[in-house]
Amino acid sequence: MSFVIVNIGSNLGDRRLNLSRAVRALEERFGYFELSHAVESAPWGFDSTHSFLNIAMAFHSDDEPYQILKAVREIENSISPASHRTPEGGYADRVIDIDIVAIDNEVINTPELTVPHPRLSERSFFLEPLNEIAPGWIHPLTGKSPLQMLIELQEGQKTQST
Ligand code: AMP
Repeated sequence: MSFVIVNIGSNLGDRRLNLSRAVRALEERFGYFELSHAVESAPWGFDSTHSFLNIAMAFHSDDEPYQILKAVREIENSISPASHRTPEGGYADRVIDIDIVAIDNEVINTPELTVPHPRLSERSFFLEPLNEIAPGWIHPLTGKSPLQMLIELQEGQKTQST
């Protein structure tokens, strides 16, 4: 049985409704879950006037990691089949985005699935909700807790702005 943490984001349409549709679908598929508060943030990696709402959700699963990814993709597609990328390959506004943040202490590094999520330590909208629902989880490659990563990210941002 693995402990799975996903991050769900939306910056188009009724964002709260989109998040709750994803939560409901994930709960139907995976059962028991824990949910963080929603955090609001400016788009990361691209320019847009639409801000994001993100939440973290944790659940247990006996499925293999790629089965979990497949289920997540199917749920995303059922809510909105629109691409998350521009024709040039950049990030785009999205009705729903579900990223797998971590599966226990597993380290997987393939184009289809990378866990822990490769940009986890750069995104406060991943780290803040993660710290709320799984403060004891430790990054298997760096040995850092969500709070440590969050503090380091905030310190790095302060240094950049001075
Ligand atoms: P995006 O359209 O930006 O959400 O990217 C989705 C693509 O990233 C999919 O093709 C996934 O196979 C791949 N991917 C790699 N690692 C992850 C992960 N940890 N969580 C979700 N998608 C992932």
